[in-house]
Amino acid sequence: MKKLIYFLAKAFFCLILVFTFSQCKKEKASTTENPSEISAYQKGKPFTTSAATGAGGGILMQAFYWDVPAGGTWYNTVKAKVPAWNSVGITAMWLPPVSKADNGGLSMGYDPFDYFDFGDFNQHGSTETRFGSKTELTALITAAHANTIQVYADMVLNHNSGGASEANPYTGGNTWTKFTPASGKFLRSYSDFHPNNIHSSDAGVFGGMPDLCHDQANVSIWLWNSASAVSKYYKNTMKFDGFRFDYVKGFAPWVVSGFMNSVPGSFAVGELWDSNVDVLNNWVVATGNTSSAFDFACYYKMQDAFNGNDLNNLSADMLLKRNPTKAVTFVTNHDTDVITGGRKLLAYAYIMTAEGYPSVFYRDYEEWLDKAKMNNLFWIHRTLAVGNTTYLYTDNDEYIAKRNGTPGLIVYINNSDFWQERWIQTNWANTAIKDYTGNSGWIPTTQGDSWVKIQAPPHGYTVWSKTGY
Ligand code: ZN
Ligand code: ZN
Ligand code: ZN
Repeated sequence: MKKLIYFLAKAFFCLILVFTFSQCKKEKASTTENPSEISAYQKGKPFTTSAATGAGGGILMQAFYWDVPAGGTWYNTVKAKVPAWNSVGITAMWLPPVSKADNGGLSMGYDPFDYFDFGDFNQHGSTETRFGSKTELTALITAAHANTIQVYADMVLNHNSGGASEANPYTGGNTWTKFTPASGKFLRSYSDFHPNNIHSSDAGVFGGMPDLCHDQANVSIWLWNSASAVSKYYKNTMKFDGFRFDYVKGFAPWVVSGFMNSVPGSFAVGELWDSNVDVLNNWVVATGNTSSAFDFACYYKMQDAFNGNDLNNLSADMLLKRNPTKAVTFVTNHDTDVITGGRKLLAYAYIMTAEGYPSVFYRDYEEWLDKAKMNNLFWIHRTLAVGNTTYLYTDNDEYIAKRNGTPGLIVYINNSDFWQERWIQTNWANTAIKDYTGNSGWIPTTQGDSWVKIQAPPHGYTVWSKTGY
């Protein structure tokens, strides 16, 4: 029905405008700027939004990838990037797990052993973690804050690794559950893991590692429920601004709400690896809205859109539509890298213009994609991507949507092999608009009823708003 109305509207405008435009449909435009010199970020005014987390505000950098160089240099590598990231609009970064893990100086941190060893205790084969020393970590956090970038800690609360073997009456054999960390904090033994006197299991285990039981007082006291707990130490002593919770499918949502209620004002996002938007949103609600969730529904819909060549998926149900202030959107992360090649930039154009809190994968920005084009999308997100969303047009290879706030924008993604153009209705009457990506050189003026024709290049995108930003 929408498409019929659209068609009739377009036909009407074709009739009245046939005298001023050579044709209405799919003409090949020749008026394009040189794409290599685009950067509305450089052309535009400075950011009008303040550094902030949440929808429409900040941008999160995932400041690592799987198997970053070992040897304790990573914190310094990231620290060197911080001023540049601030200058292009990054407002927060997510670090890999910072505490000493079973695999010591080689570990990426997801096999936690001592939550209070930040690279300052000699155990499990090294003093420093894979990423550096506690001193280097503290210097990184300080540098980030000096550049108005918040820092999120990656919390692995589901499982531990590296304990000594002990006799376990609940299994009848020996288990690797005797934890005597060098920090002297959060000593654990078999009853702190499953099975135990309370129950045999919780929601899930990971990789065969001992599965923490958060129902045990010793566990909750050390993780959040005391003045010297992990949550408060990370926030108040280490100065972390927020938390990313690993593998939240493995335990109950009240663990996250308990943790977050102990550190009010901190940001949180959970890794709930599920494409079902109901599952994602129900989890957010079950945490008492103390945590956002990564929008895996959006992630899979973007795969269907860009790899499956059906951009209709971009207007489908996702957490960014269902609960936009609690959706952290991402194109890829350290676990998976599926959307390939030039289409990845289209996916970034999508999340940077959509609702939700967008994140950027380190390698996409620093190594793989065109940094100037990414900076331009950051500027668009920070400056123009305001307000709720109206989907104006979708088909297999085109997507047009409007953000209705001020300034607001219209994004046109084209995944076909040809230039495309469409008549669409803006929120502006008799107003000159321009494409802030520089991909189109058109500066059309909207009609009295706010309709206008816009275009997008093959396997590319344009983002339109009023001139003057
Ligand atoms: Zn339990
Ligand atoms: Zn578990
Ligand atoms: Zn099309």
